Amino acid sequence: VTSETYGRAAVLTDYNQPFEIREYPVPEAEDGAIVVRVDVATVCGSDVHIWDGSLAAINPLPLPLILGHEVVGEVVALGRGADVDSVGAAVRVGDRMIWAPAACGHCDECSVARRPELCPNRQYPAMSSCEGPPHFGGGFAEYSYVRPNQGRIRVPDDVSSEWAAAGSCALRTVINAFERVGQIDYRHTVVIQGAGPLGLFATAFAATHSPKSIVVIGGPEERLEVAREWGADGIVAIEPGQSAADRVEAVRELTGGGGDVVLEMSGARGAVAEGIEMAARGARYGVVGTVGGAPQEIKAHLITHRALTLVGTFSGDVDSYAKALRFLRANQTRFDWNRMITRRYGLDDVTTCMERMMRFEEIKPVVIPSYGTL
Ligand SMILES: [Zn+2]
Ligand SMILES: [Zn+2]
Repeated sequence: VTSETYGRAAVLTDYNQPFEIREYPVPEAEDGAIVVRVDVATVCGSDVHIWDGSLAAINPLPLPLILGHEVVGEVVALGRGADVDSVGAAVRVGDRMIWAPAACGHCDECSVARRPELCPNRQYPAMSSCEGPPHFGGGFAEYSYVRPNQGRIRVPDDVSSEWAAAGSCALRTVINAFERVGQIDYRHTVVIQGAGPLGLFATAFAATHSPKSIVVIGGPEERLEVAREWGADGIVAIEPGQSAADRVEAVRELTGGGGDVVLEMSGARGAVAEGIEMAARGARYGVVGTVGGAPQEIKAHLITHRALTLVGTFSGDVDSYAKALRFLRANQTRFDWNRMITRRYGLDDVTTCMERMMRFEEIKPVVIPSYGTL
């Protein structure tokens, strides 16, 4: 990389508007930083919620933005001291990497609670303005920049970039959630609300713990097929005209009284109110997918009468990124991870990709900066 190198990026300049292709100078790697050429960026539901403005309604964001936070990049330049990843693996030019947002390292959450994902100063480069240097924050661009205080993990050779990218948001979130929710084994029925990437990874992860049964609630059919393949014993398909009470009834029937572990992985409107009703006596309820939306009215007395444990989890620290890669690698013969990956888009077609995501025509699409136009 020289100072004259420029890279293309699909830039969000206004909500709900087509992405604009811009070029920015590629920065040099300062001490501790890494410059990568983006191999792939998988698209997260959050990218869509940022693009359509719904996330900004809760959390104002500084436009313009380069979105894409599920990224695998190939190292092109290493700053001094960046030749080793967060778990001690050597990093060389040409290696593939994933990386975490930047926690501050000097607050109570970082240093005392040891939960950097809750750091109030955590920085998300894909949600920070790309106007000033180093410009390259997110993955919908030819290059990206891993800042000195961002945890980073080298991707093993036998883990594909598309799996690793999906692992760097959806699966790391799922792994953090399962760790917080606690033990799952042959005694437990697991109910998973949602069959998007979170719900599907949760299905596979739960299956590796051999629970009594797994019930997945979601749609459309294309996703439910993957859920079945990855371990769902029972399916409740979301259908038009169906009420929340219908779904609760179906789940209670399939599980014989409700889930011992219920996981909200959908972010759907009313999902938490519904999930509490799907929980058996003494159950644990993990709320993971709901990151926005209107307030929900819940039957609070069920928390007492059924003695429920409610667990909220958010994102994950770099340990979850490392575990996600190890999980993908260790279980690649048991689960066909490619089943989750749908279409591939170049930078010029990111807008089309967002529109298809909104219509549930994708599960986990991929942006490949080196890809041509549709
Ligand atoms: Zn995400
Ligand atoms: Zn902190």
